[in-house]
Amino acid sequence: MTVTTTDIPQRRELKTALPGPNSQALAARRSQAVAAGVSSTMPVFVARAGGGVIEDVDGNVLIDLGSGIAVTTVGNSAPRVVDQVQQQVADFTHTCFMISPYEEYVAVAEKLAELTPGDHAKKSALFNSGAEAVENAIKIARYATGRQAVVAVDHAYHGRTNLTMALTAKAMPYKKGFGPFASDVYRVPTSYPFRDPEGMTGEQAAQRAIGTAEKTIGADQIAAIIIEPIQGEGGFIVPAPGFLATIAQWCTDNGIVFIADEVQSGFARTGAWFACDHEGVVPDLVTTAKGIAGGLPLAAVTGRAELMDSVHAGGLGGTYGGNPVACAAALGAIETMQSDGLVARAAEIEQLATATLRQLQASTPAIGDVRGRGGMLAIEIVKPGTKEPDAALTAAVAKKCHEQGVIILTCGTYGNVIRLLPPLVISDELLTEGLQVLGQAFAELA
Ligand SMILES: *Cc1c(COP(=O)(O)O)cnc(C)c1O
Repeated sequence: MTVTTTDIPQRRELKTALPGPNSQALAARRSQAVAAGVSSTMPVFVARAGGGVIEDVDGNVLIDLGSGIAVTTVGNSAPRVVDQVQQQVADFTHTCFMISPYEEYVAVAEKLAELTPGDHAKKSALFNSGAEAVENAIKIARYATGRQAVVAVDHAYHGRTNLTMALTAKAMPYKKGFGPFASDVYRVPTSYPFRDPEGMTGEQAAQRAIGTAEKTIGADQIAAIIIEPIQGEGGFIVPAPGFLATIAQWCTDNGIVFIADEVQSGFARTGAWFACDHEGVVPDLVTTAKGIAGGLPLAAVTGRAELMDSVHAGGLGGTYGGNPVACAAALGAIETMQSDGLVARAAEIEQLATATLRQLQASTPAIGDVRGRGGMLAIEIVKPGTKEPDAALTAAVAKKCHEQGVIILTCGTYGNVIRLLPPLVISDELLTEGLQVLGQAFAELA
């Protein structure tokens, strides 16, 4: 196998103001042809990307601290992904696994059984997107339990399809005007250490959630509870220790399927293979997508063999689910994570970035909280001396970073969280420079 490295210079370089003239010309075409409901964080069109940078159509090179929302964990066009995809695309592109199966699908399912939490017998089904994986996890849980109620938590994000909109907490921009939503979905409080009462433990937060579920639904009516072990779009919220384990135990005691939605937090991103691993929690079902295939669309539900096998033959599937090219990409991405030690690299990134962010917090009263794990880090921005969210400052800081050629994303129910999701192959130098630009933005605006 030829393992080539990206030939894009790994440094920030601005040749024009952003967006440059070629991006502006494309933006004009876009506005005529692309639906306005599909928006972009930065109106800069991409020519090439690799390592820790994205090069635009005007020759500007930007530092990528977003990984296309936690997708290009192994970097864009990672060499092993490119090799596997090129070989597969030349061999065959699609047969539909439900008609004529192929080895790559099986190999991805084997890898998922090996890497996801727990050493029980596991099986997988493959899909195209995170939302589709979540939908199927709920289908399986309902089928296996014969129950209908599904519980999600505050600040949850699970996708944009009808059922996953119902599971998602935030109205704007995800839900407003798109109802009616799927029924039998209930919401309970989560654990949000920065905003929970002072000193509330993970066990207490879990009991608060369990109490709500028992009072408003009844444990024997609940098919599943779905939780992001580190919440993504809702604000990179790391629950207090013990929260996940207490919920998982309550699920076991009551015949409820515990679904960990690891679509954003999975695949080395947090300095473990899966975020549940940090807490030693073993979910019944795990949904994965984003980081799984180096940028190609692939998703999975992986879980206890007896749960996964409960559904009748033909009850799960889809035309493209587990597409061979996407599976080949996943095998290249997983090999990259294993061979290049990207789980450990994520932990290194946490060390480096957290030290810098805590320094910044010490000199910036608007930074209320610094949190996250591995390469999934965030700062929550507030009015100084309070916990009142400051979405305007958050947006201004992000905009300033964008103008300086650093791709930074925001999130949070209150729109006041800046999140960092660098490709795990980013160099220390680029990461440090990206954080310096962020620091300067705060110095100028806060
Ligand atoms: C992004 C995301 C989804 C939805 O994935 P899509 O591929 O966009 O459908 C679901 N759950 C979580 C936790 C996510 O971050």
